[in-house]
Amino acid sequence: MEIAELAGRIVAGDRRALARAITLVESRRADHRAQAAELIEDLRVRSDAQAIRIGLSGTPGVGKSTFIESFGMMLLAQGLRVAVLAVDPSSARSGGSILGDKTRMERLSREPGAFIRPSPSQTHLGGVARRTREAVALCEAAGFDVVLIETVGVGQSETVVAEMSDLFVLLLAPAGGDELQGVKRGIMEMADLILVNKADGDLKPAAMRTQADYAGALRLLRKRPQDPEGYPKAVCVSALQEDGLAKAWEDMRHLVDWRRETGHFEGRRAEQARYWFAQEVRHALLAQLETPQARAQMDDLARAVAEGQITPTVAATRMMEDLRGD
Ligand code: GDP
Repeated sequence: MEIAELAGRIVAGDRRALARAITLVESRRADHRAQAAELIEDLRVRSDAQAIRIGLSGTPGVGKSTFIESFGMMLLAQGLRVAVLAVDPSSARSGGSILGDKTRMERLSREPGAFIRPSPSQTHLGGVARRTREAVALCEAAGFDVVLIETVGVGQSETVVAEMSDLFVLLLAPAGGDELQGVKRGIMEMADLILVNKADGDLKPAAMRTQADYAGALRLLRKRPQDPEGYPKAVCVSALQEDGLAKAWEDMRHLVDWRRETGHFEGRRAEQARYWFAQEVRHALLAQLETPQARAQMDDLARAVAEGQITPTVAATRMMEDLRGD
């Protein structure tokens, strides 16, 4: 199929075309990469549809799939279309994706208004990041109103997800003790909304204590220019009982509306585009070192350096000249 035709079908809401396009952007073959780039560019020109991109992070077991299912069904009931993508670098190591489990989100996956795609299995987070970012663009062009990007928060994956989201949501479970579950300060600072899940039954008192602890901790953070009064905030939800989800969505909408009015929404997207551009350049430069010739040359120069025939600085200069083709 021609790229232009594929783009047309995606914009028309053809889900098979979307799935096929995501497979294309996930491919590492050079010709596929070129086609993917052409497709993304075509869609950029063709469509100015804008979704709300929500990053969602939480350790395994906090209830991410339960939440996405309940939250997604609620959004569908409001007439919105929902796409779910995942960034799961652990899938590269284990060979199977934690977030790609077929049994997850069973109800949502059967809904015509929902689209669920597991994390691409790639060896590098950088690769997963680029492909997910492109998949977000595809879902957006396909007219989804909300794109949820889920991560288990391994290594840098939270940063990667936050850098491609309009909102970053941290899902937590009620804490047993009074400690803040070892959530790193940096992650807290990225969060726009902390949802303490499982606020039901016996766990409710613990959930409320945890929520109060985080609300207190968030108040201590420096006020960010991109936040209206009262944000970032921590609230209780029960994904299982579908409790607090409508309120959480209202909180998200309020934040998005405020940021749109104040220019922070577009400002953040512009910043993210800048960030990904710089990442792509770095990625491309590093890829130049991975060709067989470059590797051989690196080995030769490394040997010469080790044997004291040439200094590291001169060797590096020569390597750079060779890469430039001087
Ligand atoms: P994930 O690994 O983060 O995707 O977590 P899951 O959605 O698979 O949920 C892990 C476990 O927590 C499952 O047994 C769920 O039934 C349970 N769970 C999820 N949400 C809730 C909730 O709101 N309340 C309670 N009580 N259990 C929940």
